[in-house]
Amino acid sequence: MSTTTLSSLKSEFPTLDQMVNGHPLAYLDNAATTQRPLAVLDAMDTFYRVDNANVHRGVHTLSMRASEKFELARHRVAKFVNAREDAEIIFTKGCTESINLVAGSWGRANLAVGDTVLVSTMEHHSNIVPWQMVCKEKGALTISIPVSGEGVLDLSVLRSLFTVHKVRLVCVKHVCNAIGTVNPVAEICRIAHEHGALVMVDGAQALAHEAVDVQAIGADFYAMSAHKVYGPMGVGALYGRRELLDAMPPYQTGGGMIQTVSIETSSFAPIPDKFEPGTPNVAGVIGFGAALEWARAIGIANFAATERALTASSSSRLADIPGLRLIGTAPDKAGIVSFVMEQAHPHDVGTILDSEGVAVRSGHHCCQPLMTHFGIPATTRASFAAYSTEEDVDALIRGINKVATIFG
Ligand code: PMP
Repeated sequence: MSTTTLSSLKSEFPTLDQMVNGHPLAYLDNAATTQRPLAVLDAMDTFYRVDNANVHRGVHTLSMRASEKFELARHRVAKFVNAREDAEIIFTKGCTESINLVAGSWGRANLAVGDTVLVSTMEHHSNIVPWQMVCKEKGALTISIPVSGEGVLDLSVLRSLFTVHKVRLVCVKHVCNAIGTVNPVAEICRIAHEHGALVMVDGAQALAHEAVDVQAIGADFYAMSAHKVYGPMGVGALYGRRELLDAMPPYQTGGGMIQTVSIETSSFAPIPDKFEPGTPNVAGVIGFGAALEWARAIGIANFAATERALTASSSSRLADIPGLRLIGTAPDKAGIVSFVMEQAHPHDVGTILDSEGVAVRSGHHCCQPLMTHFGIPATTRASFAAYSTEEDVDALIRGINKVATIFG
């Protein structure tokens, strides 16, 4: 499918069809959250209008229908990331909860005094703070994997860290939400496994932009958020290898995750139920499945081609603007462009762009260690999705030229 055909996707996204501050909306905040196509809105609406019932525990028709749709969504997630089996997919509130699940369960059960968890300097706070907490509790260390001036992870330092530390886990994101670097996660998994360590991959930004194959990557754990891939907010998934999930203790407990309960003790259900206590976000899970089905039908490779083309064109046009510096210039980048301007603070840039109908994000993007590495407090970030167009980039450049004029 060509870029032109993809641009017609906009008509499937009701939110994109509006004026903002007198201008057609140019939505370039897709790394924060994507918009939802009609296919997703309809799937969720149909659940509440037609099928609404609690899942798994009912024998009546609506409950069985809801359960079937819920499990179909699990199957779609499993297929989308090429898990070996559906049970390796645990539904969560999103990437943050998926990582907290691994830290709270695997981390508590396995880390001990003298162990090390390696965390890349470009990690999102959600793949740093849970590890700090559990490492403090267990007497283990969190140590950083450094990043180059371009925003690329230093794999030679990564290799050397295994020779001096007893590394149990490597935490790395697949695609960087702040600067767009695509990390060589398969190679990182190979290095970690050679040294007997596991890898927690934060896939929040990858799912919508790259074809993800957890088996080819060799990921032990892979965290996902539906809202970053055209699905609803507040729902996501954790992929984990069966052997690991089987051996892990429950993270949260309650109804639906048990086999038997007496007042003194309980036994637990097999995966995935062991990690899914309580009533799940059924409509959200169904919307997640619908989003992946929508993306699969169009083809992630088509998304990637569009987004990479827009990243290249916007980067070169932005780099020509006096006083503007691109942050993160890795050779392999997904659809994210970050920059700072000598003339204006990122928040002022974001405010002026909004007055032109251009939605971007300004801030540290929950990546304070990475900002510290670049010696800046924040950036302005434009991020693309499948429906983004060169006209959106034109609007961005017009807005940035206005910033340069006002603050110049
Ligand atoms: N990791 C990365 C790389 C992200 O971009 C985000 C969302 N900004 C998260 C984790 C957290 O995702 P969520 O808020 O959906 O849990």
